[in-house]
Amino acid sequence: MSQNILFLAHVDESGTALPKAAYEALGAALELAEQLGGKLTVGLIGENIQVAADTLTGTGAAILSVSGPDFASPRYASDAAAISAICAATSPAIVIASGTSRFMRVVPGVGHRLKGQVDTHLTSIELVEGAITAKRWFYRQRLEAVIQREARPWFLVLDPGCHHAWSGPQGKAEVQAIDVQLTDTARRTTFTGMRTPSSTAQTIRPDAKLLFVAGAGWCKKQSDGATHLPEAETAILQFLQNSGASLGGSKSLVDQSGENQAVLGFMTHLNQVGQTGSTPRHAKGLSTCCHGEEPHVVGWRFINERRAVNLDPNCGWARGKADVLYVADAFQVMAKLNALLAAKANHEEELASAAV
Ligand SMILES: Cc1cc2nc3c(=O)[nH]c(=O)nc-3n(C[C@H](O)[C@H](O)[C@H](O)COP(=O)(O)OP(=O)(O)OC[C@H]3O[C@@H](n4cnc5c(N)ncnc54)[C@H](O)[C@@H]3O)c2cc1C
Repeated sequence: MSQNILFLAHVDESGTALPKAAYEALGAALELAEQLGGKLTVGLIGENIQVAADTLTGTGAAILSVSGPDFASPRYASDAAAISAICAATSPAIVIASGTSRFMRVVPGVGHRLKGQVDTHLTSIELVEGAITAKRWFYRQRLEAVIQREARPWFLVLDPGCHHAWSGPQGKAEVQAIDVQLTDTARRTTFTGMRTPSSTAQTIRPDAKLLFVAGAGWCKKQSDGATHLPEAETAILQFLQNSGASLGGSKSLVDQSGENQAVLGFMTHLNQVGQTGSTPRHAKGLSTCCHGEEPHVVGWRFINERRAVNLDPNCGWARGKADVLYVADAFQVMAKLNALLAAKANHEEELASAAV
């Protein structure tokens, strides 16, 4: 059976560079090609792909492309035509792509057109006892599936953050351009732009080392019988700024904004972590004023080291869900943490100016 592997990538919003997730999927594709002793080909899509292609010369792989203004932006019909053309030119057994929103919308459709099979949201791709094996989680990250398939072509879409990103020497890449003529119907949809809530852009940082999670306790009456929202907002925003952490929220907290209750202004449903929220990947997590109930903790599946601050020594985190639980007032803990981080930043500034 052919062991040809096709790695697919599209340029990002900058119009020329590849997203980080593409280099991660490329890392997985190169490792698999080496394990299989198979040939890897790269297929690039975008308005202008040369800059991206030049970053891939170190792979030694042949590079094919479908490019031009028609392929600048995500659009099902043109992306499907581009991927189909690259597949027709390479007859791959395995197609590996990163799980960007652009590819998640189009790769399964192309897999169906080419009478292949597709698996998405993969967390790993490797050779196990001679068989290509992919893994993904089901039921909100509670069950892990191990998948092997006979079907070819097999399209494997890898979730971002699951493999180290490949990097290697750059050069001047030779790219074989494939000419894809689109029909008028394929051009019917026009890409008008991207809209993201401004708060999300500032607070959700998938590449941060730390996930900071705020719970409903931040908006609850405290020991003096009053709520302290402005102090809560300041403490959290200062911490995000000082630490570079990404911001998550419990469902109770993010739901309050929909119910017109007093809330943290920068918290949206997109910050929600858990069974009905997201499952982010970060090296560490710090939960504050959040009880740590099971549907919430499901979202912590891929957080390696978990710490929590809660006034209640019997909170959910205390039952083995956090590595460390600080039984303490989060307002006081965060004020102290912010002071320490500010002092550290000052000290580093002093050292830097002394060195000049
Ligand atoms: C089907 C289903 C799906 C769900 N999906 C999700 C989900 O995806 N994500 C999610 O988060 N939840 C989810 N939930 C809800 C979840 O079960 C909890 O209700 C929710 O996570 C509770 O949020 P919380 O801990 O912020 O609030 P609370 O349970 O109200 O806890 C607030 C905590 O703050 C502490 N506190 C108060 N003041 C302070 C202080 N000064 N210092 C320190 N601690 C303080 C209190 O001790 C308390 O433990 C789901 C529920 C269901 C039924």
